[in-house]
Amino acid sequence: MTTLHDCLRLDALDPLAPLRAHFSLPPGVIYLDGNSLGVLPAATAARVAQVVTQEWGTDLIKSWNSAGWFDLPQRLGNQIAPLIGAGQGEVVATDSTSVNLFKVLTAALNMAAADAPQRKLVVSERSNFPTDLYIAESLCRQHGFTLQLVEPEEIATALTSQVAVLMLTHVNYRTGAMHDMPAVTQAAHEAGALMLWDLAHSAGAVPVDLTAAKADFAVGCGYKYLNGGPGAPAFVWVNTAHAERFWQPLAGWWGHATPFEFTPDYRPAPGVTRYLCGTQPMISLAALECGLDVFDAAGRIVPNQSAMQTLRQKSLALTDLFIELVEQRCAGHGLGLATPREHAQRGSQVCLSKSEGAYAIVQALIARGVIGDYRAGNGAQHPDILRFGFTPLYLGYEDVWNAVDQLQQVLESEEWRRPEFNQKHAVT
Ligand SMILES: *Cc1c(COP(=O)(O)O)cnc(C)c1O
Repeated sequence: MTTLHDCLRLDALDPLAPLRAHFSLPPGVIYLDGNSLGVLPAATAARVAQVVTQEWGTDLIKSWNSAGWFDLPQRLGNQIAPLIGAGQGEVVATDSTSVNLFKVLTAALNMAAADAPQRKLVVSERSNFPTDLYIAESLCRQHGFTLQLVEPEEIATALTSQVAVLMLTHVNYRTGAMHDMPAVTQAAHEAGALMLWDLAHSAGAVPVDLTAAKADFAVGCGYKYLNGGPGAPAFVWVNTAHAERFWQPLAGWWGHATPFEFTPDYRPAPGVTRYLCGTQPMISLAALECGLDVFDAAGRIVPNQSAMQTLRQKSLALTDLFIELVEQRCAGHGLGLATPREHAQRGSQVCLSKSEGAYAIVQALIARGVIGDYRAGNGAQHPDILRFGFTPLYLGYEDVWNAVDQLQQVLESEEWRRPEFNQKHAVT
């Protein structure tokens, strides 16, 4: 039996504990929703104020050069690269995840149409995040492809000679289940398909090595585990083998080889710059940089391993502890574990299924300062879910203890049945 005393001891021994000081967490809050909106880094407010008052307010248009605005998407891409196993000069921070997915999937469909015109299927997972499926459905309709949705265990058999692209989210947003990226990518390639990964719940959460996996395309999110702020720019990566063939469907002037020659024809810039479309949001990019700087700090703590390896060890310890404590202390209340126990199959979140009251339990927890979220089920195979994200940058073992303690109290008191906890808000 793990005790509160054990948790306090683990915190005292945790080399990553000082990273919490890099964030402004409101007092009295245990934040288990960093998988949906990361917390505010301590440096962000002052940095954004500096961009607004100094770089914009005082230096005005000169800042495109003097403050390094113009190449900030590429510089932030280089900061993201080590978190996802990409090389320098291979990633840019830009646009939203949905828009970046539109760009890379369009490019993938164009490449497939040129190289293997008989392949007319895009395969994805039925429980993928809806925006990914909507973008894919729309592009398939425009380009004469068909979107085929399967369950995770059906992916292998779905990889036929008809498949042009396999498009998956590495860590499932609902369950926290993680795909074996190298194995799935290899299977896609053996079947002759291109492999596109969405890293929305992976970047900054679990180690990713796109290069070793030989993936073709990847996109990911800036406002979840990267703590870039609401609606932060996302990122996009293309395997260097395809970089010159990657034709930007949103061919704007920021992706042009010589934007300030103002030529009437489009010539894509070499390399990653062509993934950009138009003028980039500098205030938002500056905020994202503050989130990324914390990963650099994490990388300096344990010098002989990557930041993500160090963070992963703690993330698994936190999620293991949460599962263990929930099973010890909340048994008999009808909670199920929707997240795989197997480390290799688990992202950085734990999801509990509950047939009745999942939404209200989350609301009651939020009222007690434990912030997780709720995701509606759809059918018997996908029950309602209480979702808890664990960000090792700012969470400790005592936080896990206290969160489960509150969950136990909410369940035993049945306070979640109160009407105020059962009123649905627009954002769940
Ligand atoms: C969060 C998330 C997104 C978000 O896309 P936006 O364009 O930022 O709204 C997309 N895909 C997945 C898998 C996500 O988890």
